[in-house]
Amino acid sequence: MIENVVSVSGGKDSTATYLKALERGLPFRAVFADTGNEHEWTYDFVRSLAARTGGPEVIWVKADFTARLAKKREYIASHWAREGISASTIETALSLLHPTGNPFLDLCLWKTRFPSAKARFCTDELKIVPIFEQVQRPLLAAGASMVSWQGVRADESLARADLPRFQRIDPVPYSMPADARHKGANWKAFVYRPLISWSARDVFAFHKRHGLPWNPLYDHGMSRVGCLPCVMCKKGELRSIAQRFPDHIDKIEQWEAVVSQVSKRGNSTFFNVCDDPVTSEGWDKPDYDWSLSRVGIRAHVEWSKTSRGGRQYDAFLDAAENFGTSCSEWGACE
Ligand code: SF4
Repeated sequence: MIENVVSVSGGKDSTATYLKALERGLPFRAVFADTGNEHEWTYDFVRSLAARTGGPEVIWVKADFTARLAKKREYIASHWAREGISASTIETALSLLHPTGNPFLDLCLWKTRFPSAKARFCTDELKIVPIFEQVQRPLLAAGASMVSWQGVRADESLARADLPRFQRIDPVPYSMPADARHKGANWKAFVYRPLISWSARDVFAFHKRHGLPWNPLYDHGMSRVGCLPCVMCKKGELRSIAQRFPDHIDKIEQWEAVVSQVSKRGNSTFFNVCDDPVTSEGWDKPDYDWSLSRVGIRAHVEWSKTSRGGRQYDAFLDAAENFGTSCSEWGACE
């Protein structure tokens, strides 16, 4: 038996993939991984997709860090004092390391840091693994061959340029423990990328042909749909988010304050200080000012308003265009 699973993010490419599956007339499941850091319009868009298209309801999955946070508390209680961490820091961390129900925040609490371009554990932990555990694994374990439909286009980036339209893949995500990968070694899983040769224009035209308005975020200055903001967000996008959706900046500011309190050094920023040409200056010196007012999201928002006079570095995370991690292969993050 073949089971088709379409990953839906609320973005234009995964929506076109859902429409493509619908056109084919094959039975399929659609799944959305809620990171807890999406715009409310994206949630509304995904919730309404089935009713607006006549397609299948989208299965909603969420990562749950309850057990891992409990282990983290145990670890901190038994190890941090021996590592010289102050009693008040330990007490604060133990009081805050409880699940909030928001997957993104809970992940950062568990890791006691935010993800970054170089440590992009968010895609695996918030998208790939929950989709695998909650939807794909049961199908594979029941003996089905699983075809994962992914809305990836070759012209999006160099990393995606050479991806094949159809490909057999390891059924269990690389980030899972070796014994889980071993157990699933004989399962059959494939990736199908029906949009691989499409342009963005094709994708929007396809929405029109189906009479489906795209996610309204595209009409409000956003070039991509996903976490708002994404840790790999570029300067112009950050500026647009701050202007149009300031409550999302407030959210990150609150998260920075909480995650900082569970971190050993008392500081954790949404954007990686060391990746950043302005804030990274002197970061390895003992007198470096790590305060959130200097290196936190607000400082980045202020910088995002600058141009050359503000020591422009528009490409501070342009590497995002060409990222080569599992994100690009799975099309999990637009
Ligand atoms: S959209 Fe960005 S922050 Fe969100 S999971 Fe993907 S890479 Fe991580």
